[in-house]
Amino acid sequence: KRVLKNRDEAGTVIDNDLMIIAGPCSVENYDVMDSTVAFLKSLGISYIRGGAFKPRTSPYSFQGLGDKGLEILREVKLKYDVKIVSEIMDVRDIEGICEVADIVQIGSRNMYNYPLLKEVGRLNKKVLLKRGLSATIEEWLSAAEYISLEGNDDIILCERGIRTFETYTRNTLDLNCVPVIKQKTKLKVIVDPSHGTGRRELIKPMSLAAIAAGADGLMIEIHPEPEKALSDGNQSVDFEGFKSIYREVLRLHRYL
Ligand code: PEP
Ligand code: MN
Repeated sequence: KRVLKNRDEAGTVIDNDLMIIAGPCSVENYDVMDSTVAFLKSLGISYIRGGAFKPRTSPYSFQGLGDKGLEILREVKLKYDVKIVSEIMDVRDIEGICEVADIVQIGSRNMYNYPLLKEVGRLNKKVLLKRGLSATIEEWLSAAEYISLEGNDDIILCERGIRTFETYTRNTLDLNCVPVIKQKTKLKVIVDPSHGTGRRELIKPMSLAAIAAGADGLMIEIHPEPEKALSDGNQSVDFEGFKSIYREVLRLHRYL
């Protein structure tokens, strides 16, 4: 077990200087996952996202494939030798998710779920901690401390937009937090412009803005046919769209 770490010492290692995580919002079926991972792998991207357990606002919306989704993730992981990022919502699913996920995601809605935070704090596993829907930076860092105090300081923060009065976008991407996190902590922080904007046409400019602000990476939702996606199609880019975003992100990152 690691020694107790505080906010100034906690830090994770990412094996690229830019961590790009991409994939569909939800694991929908084998074919979507297989074609998406094949495409991302061809670009050299090895962190794949996909939710098997989905925290949907409406109980009538697609809730994810659950264990069947984990099985699909396991298959593509073996086939393509990629790293899997997937959300955990319930402590009872920890074992199943940890068998396949290289990074466990705590979603925005669960940032305040202290029993869940403590439980992932006892794991020997990277944790992607998304910012709560209306969480201040202080509250977010305190959530990270709930994890690190249990011994796991392998934490990456993810800004995914906050609630404001603005309704044109799904959330307001708070890029202020990137330099603030950098000034206050040693934690890595990545940005999710998909949930941060809710709008496909804003993913590229906000990805570039995030990198310019100093983000350590991005998490982007991508789908072979976004209009057919079972969740978050409006904010998912297709393969061509992703390629163009990725090309410009790399160009900017090299320039910086
Ligand atoms: C997600 O990444 O799939 C997700 C549900 O995001 P958030 O928790 O930020 O809403
Ligand atoms: Mn989503």
